[in-house]
Amino acid sequence: MGKTERILLHCGKVFDGIQERYLEQADILVEGNRIVQVEQGIPAEAADRVIDLSDKVVTPGLMEIHDHAVGYHNENVPAILNEFLLKTPTYRALGILRHLNELLEHGFTLVRDCCYVERGWTCVDIRDAISAGIVDGPRYVVCGHSGGIDGGHTDLRQFISDPDVQPVAQSPNLGSGAAHFQKWVRTEFLHNVDFIKFHIDGGFATPHDDPEHRHMSEEEIQAIIETAHSCNRKATAHIYGDESARLAIQHGVDGIEHGALLSPETYDLAAEKGVYIVPTMCFFDRGVFLDEDELSRVPAYMAEKYRIKHEKLCRSREALVRHIENGTLLVGYGTDLGAVEPMLPAWREYETMVRSGVTPFKALKVATSNSAKIVERPDLGHLAPGKLADIVAWDQDPVTELKALRSCAFVMKDGKVVKEGERVYKTGPRL
Ligand SMILES: [Zn+2]
Ligand SMILES: [Zn+2]
Repeated sequence: MGKTERILLHCGKVFDGIQERYLEQADILVEGNRIVQVEQGIPAEAADRVIDLSDKVVTPGLMEIHDHAVGYHNENVPAILNEFLLKTPTYRALGILRHLNELLEHGFTLVRDCCYVERGWTCVDIRDAISAGIVDGPRYVVCGHSGGIDGGHTDLRQFISDPDVQPVAQSPNLGSGAAHFQKWVRTEFLHNVDFIKFHIDGGFATPHDDPEHRHMSEEEIQAIIETAHSCNRKATAHIYGDESARLAIQHGVDGIEHGALLSPETYDLAAEKGVYIVPTMCFFDRGVFLDEDELSRVPAYMAEKYRIKHEKLCRSREALVRHIENGTLLVGYGTDLGAVEPMLPAWREYETMVRSGVTPFKALKVATSNSAKIVERPDLGHLAPGKLADIVAWDQDPVTELKALRSCAFVMKDGKVVKEGERVYKTGPRL
């Protein structure tokens, strides 16, 4: 065994992921894939190599924890359908890898995929290939398929009117009844997914439903959560409505995805019960800000839903922002990237949070240490001795420049330099 390389990052400002201030002119010493020291004035002799980031702002690697990587590179719902249903798993895998590596080069060192309809186990294979070093990519956390009722938000058959063609979108995560969903969760477990995701309510992107309508029965909700827990997996649910959230919380759900129409009282209940929220706030900007130009870019039925729900979306966002500011609710960073607008840039959630009244350090915390808690990775999201070395740097200061996260200057994942300025390195072993 050769000696483990020691890299010294000579940093300008450092946000460590926890403290809501910068450490000025701090240095970070990395040995192998771990951080061993974070302090001022570490001598260059301590390292085999020094990287000068003295004019940069350094943060832990960001986390995108509500992604849909399989929807890569499409511009509208019919094109996404084409990608999901008519391409081979191999083609999809290549698209997912491209998408994941773009996120990595933009400073996102961990991506959690809240998947969509796809019969195979492409996401699981890609996760394992990345962690085995066969291909490059961010850390990839996957749920496999997300459970939903026949005809519900996750059932793509609703976009296909010909019953002879509909079966192409049939997959085991869709069904009805507690027994069906128990079997489905165990099938996901069999394939070793990281968490269980399911849809309780309708949504904005599907034409025939209301986001606040509860689609799943109480028995189905209970069966999914209990089975997930018996498989030692967290259960997280796509929810908008108060009634659904309260039922899911009552049955022990671990997290809520979106929650964009919840009342202040339901956020309080989630906080009290230790249930996390991944609000995907930027996905609802169209409904909050009612920008006509933005609304014209989505299908008419979707724009109409945003208009109808405008007041509720605003009230809900205010309550959420209060919780983020007070640190009373565990909130994660996710964009819903890939669900409808796949090229929605992942930095947008940061800008939305700050535009909505979240202070920049709190927003950075959401994107790093808070999201690390949600994906149960206490070894990530915090720049401190003993933690894994996922470290990124920015040319501009995100605390003073709203758009700073649009341009990432440096990426280190697991102690290996992935990107330095314009140069992108291959980190995996060459076969
Ligand atoms: Zn959703
Ligand atoms: Zn989603």
